[in-house]
Amino acid sequence: MGEFLPYGHQWIDDNDVEAVVRVLKSDFLTQGPLVQRFEEAILETCGAKHCVAVANGTAALHIAVAALELDSGVEGITSPITFVASANCLVYNGITPKFADIDPRTYNIDPQAIQERITERTRVIIPVHFAGQPADVKQIAQGARKRGITIIEDAAHAIGSIDENGSRIGDCRNSDMTAFSFHPVKNVTTGEGGAITTNDDALFRKLQLLRNHGITRDPVLLSQNPGPWYYEMQEIGYNYRLTDLQAALGVAQLSHLDAFKKRRREIVARYNQAFSNLPHLTVPFERTGNDSCFHLYVVQIDFDAMKTSRTQIMELLRKQGVGTQVHYIPVHTQPFYRKRFGYRDGDFPVAERYYGRALSLPLFPKMSDGDVGRVIDAVRSIVEG
Ligand SMILES: *Cc1c(COP(=O)(O)O)cnc(C)c1O
Repeated sequence: MGEFLPYGHQWIDDNDVEAVVRVLKSDFLTQGPLVQRFEEAILETCGAKHCVAVANGTAALHIAVAALELDSGVEGITSPITFVASANCLVYNGITPKFADIDPRTYNIDPQAIQERITERTRVIIPVHFAGQPADVKQIAQGARKRGITIIEDAAHAIGSIDENGSRIGDCRNSDMTAFSFHPVKNVTTGEGGAITTNDDALFRKLQLLRNHGITRDPVLLSQNPGPWYYEMQEIGYNYRLTDLQAALGVAQLSHLDAFKKRRREIVARYNQAFSNLPHLTVPFERTGNDSCFHLYVVQIDFDAMKTSRTQIMELLRKQGVGTQVHYIPVHTQPFYRKRFGYRDGDFPVAERYYGRALSLPLFPKMSDGDVGRVIDAVRSIVEG
């Protein structure tokens, strides 16, 4: 890496580049054979029955919710501490976004808080595996699924993570679908890209339709078959296809996932050790048994007690070449969510308190030991004062 360390960064090696170049020299830049190969590689990684690769993680969430064909006006629940896409996918589908507060230790949505938010109109819950740490989907599902509520995991941060029951994120053992993102800051990348895994045959077929304008050519699905030109548009779908260029990169990237995960966990362990005795700073907590492919390293800093501000700390770190970011501004406090749904400050106090103290430090597998040491020295010098 150069002098400046961003909070996240991709790692593309020569094999990855060659995989993409091979597609560029082939007959199909899109709708060729690589997309299915990528889907199979995701299934090998996650252990689910079906996979549908799409243009990005937001598209994955959009059609996962669309596939449920819910009436508008029903409710969905997600975490306030997530990227806006986890809630926007509900709004795209005319579903009222509700939130349940987070667990103050894991920063994941709190299953108990979900219980308190469920109404007779709740149809879908979208737990987010924040920072790569598995949310307690098993417990969330126990209360919800017997009430007919669908669970869609937002695993944009969490490909490669394993939960405390030994379940790989994406195997959908306790959920209906899992959505992934392959944006360059995520654990593996295709540039832009996403995918949905599911064990449900009907949802799988619906997702394939929705990815491609709602169009099918499958003779088994057609209502008539007058000739070889014939296709039917059976749903209102989208062009959410992934290209073969991206899929080739995805296959190559997935072959690095184990090594990436190992390196991410090494860096997290070094940070935890270096920072655990610092005043005013709390290191991330990992639930016993979770084996997280950490996507983010988020510390909580008591800026007030330090008599400073987050802006000032970010500026001081930036001067030492250390990039930081804040994940995330609570979604319910975004102007759109306030205006459209009437959310206010104070609605989700644990999330808001978390937000007030959150800071993500650089975490990506390409960081050298020297880079990690540089972050540690910079944070120590600033937080110890
Ligand atoms: C990145 C992200 C998304 C959206 O993925 P894109 O590929 O950027 O569209 C959704 N949810 C979460 C939690 C994310 O971090």
